[in-house]
Amino acid sequence: MNFFRQKSCHETFLLKTYIFSADFASNEIFLRVLILVRLYKKEKGNVMQVGKISCLNTSNIFQQRNTNTREVRFGCPQDTFTKSPIAVKGSNAVSFGITDVNKKENEQFLADTEANIRKVCNRLKLSKAMTGRILRTETVEGEIKVTGIDTPIKCYLVMTGAALDQAENLPELKDDNEDGLAKGGIRFAENVDVNTIKALSLDMMIKNALAGLPLRGGKSGIAYDPTKLTAGQKEDAMRQYTRLFKDYIGTRYVPAPDMGTNADLMSVVRDEFKNIKGYDVPGCVTGKAWGKGGSAGRTEATGFGLVYALERAFELQGKTKDPLKGLRVAIQGSGNVGIHAALLLQEKGAHVVAIGDKYKDENDNDKYGTIYKEDGLDVKAVKDYVSNHPQKTVDGYNNESGVKPIPHEDLFALDNVDVIIPAAAQHQITEDNADKIKAKYIAEGANGPTTRGADVSLNSRTENKPEIYPDILMNQGGVVVSYFEQVQNKNGGEPWSKQIVLDMLQEHMTSRYDKVHKYAKEKNISMREAATEIAVEKIARAIKNNAA
Ligand code: NAD
Repeated sequence: MNFFRQKSCHETFLLKTYIFSADFASNEIFLRVLILVRLYKKEKGNVMQVGKISCLNTSNIFQQRNTNTREVRFGCPQDTFTKSPIAVKGSNAVSFGITDVNKKENEQFLADTEANIRKVCNRLKLSKAMTGRILRTETVEGEIKVTGIDTPIKCYLVMTGAALDQAENLPELKDDNEDGLAKGGIRFAENVDVNTIKALSLDMMIKNALAGLPLRGGKSGIAYDPTKLTAGQKEDAMRQYTRLFKDYIGTRYVPAPDMGTNADLMSVVRDEFKNIKGYDVPGCVTGKAWGKGGSAGRTEATGFGLVYALERAFELQGKTKDPLKGLRVAIQGSGNVGIHAALLLQEKGAHVVAIGDKYKDENDNDKYGTIYKEDGLDVKAVKDYVSNHPQKTVDGYNNESGVKPIPHEDLFALDNVDVIIPAAAQHQITEDNADKIKAKYIAEGANGPTTRGADVSLNSRTENKPEIYPDILMNQGGVVVSYFEQVQNKNGGEPWSKQIVLDMLQEHMTSRYDKVHKYAKEKNISMREAATEIAVEKIARAIKNNAA
């Protein structure tokens, strides 16, 4: 096979190669192979990278090695990757389900994420080698086949290398030893690709360090629109995903929910992992359903955590009594993060005046649903409406008087709104819409919702400069309660009550907010720079300590 000949040019890096299984698919030019490559770090001799892929075009296999990321990727020539964005129905073509526009956006997302980290590394005067180690990621790619879907679905798993160094000195990782694991959610979305998952895993590395958790950064993705799948197909996808990444789940990476996934799907991962192992490993995944190994408060954790931090921000501004009362808020995203933030904001006396989201109509066209009510929406009624809507959108909601639909592009440009909360997807606040923002505060619920350009533009305003509370601080509630869940799963005993979990979460978010706020004031830098700097300093220290 070509593969072995190509391997020889990387002989020094690839010390061991195993082929686990190979079977012919119906299309003769495609071989379904599963390859595990062990890439040994020359100087230490320890395992650094494991790559996996299926569906190789044997007539023209290429192997690409990226020295920055320590990634090895196997597959068809680059053209085949880029020129066949949509899988051909009924064939064995590799499925990417991603448009060229999405691809460019995702490249930009990764470039922005890396640039933000690099900028902080420069400010901290870290060496090039250290910066490279911090930015290092390892990638595992593969495909799953879901019942009733003709084309294979691409899946990705990325773990950060820097935090791997943090874990290297830890005792041998076992199924029941979750210390030093990579942690981050599973994104189930059409526009997922390796760049999105890399960017999100780096984001998780920074977030975990800032949160003080003994976890590396990780993220995984299933590149398909879950709203086009039945409940049974989604469950099948999660089972296949678990089988694909079974060598990592529980021992090196602990998944959790992210866009397009939820508590019930996490319980499916646990169940399938049990089928594979023959015994139960409750902590192999977090964000599981309550009563199925999940922690009380995990579902609410990200949205509630954001509100606790926001509350602290206003307290520190002197509003000690009911800090959020009367605040007018617009939220993008009616999913897990957005709706839970909205529920708690309303409970604390704020007016959630607008909520917007995006969905696919029956003809597969992108549609936005965006609703506005001058004196604040009944969030509970909106939540019920969305959960009963087949496309899970606020579109068409008119269950209360005074509510009206507005164009989605007006959501961030509304007058008379104090806070906007992007809680949907990355790169929603861009250089194109940043100048229309009138709100005084932006509290980031989504991961990477503000492009680097928009961040610069907002921060360089001389008038009406909004305070931006960054994602890595504001949305860390999810991973914090996931960690609580890991601890409970490991220790057993009576599960912690929701009150205990939420009290601990509030305490955590308040103290982290204080820390970032103090650092930003002392150094006269933005909250984003402060949060990133605290985290990067910590990671660099861990790497140095481990090298000593
Ligand atoms: P979700 O799938 O439950 O909801 C996503 C929401 O965003 C939906 O309402 C969807 O309609 C909307 N949306 C998606 N793309 C949009 C677009 N381009 N424009 C407008 N609306 C759009 O996802 P979630 O779990 O609520 O996650 C939302 C964001 O928060 C993501 O960026 C995710 O990475 C981040 N996050 C989630 C968690 C968590 O615990 N779930 C933790 C930390 C960060």
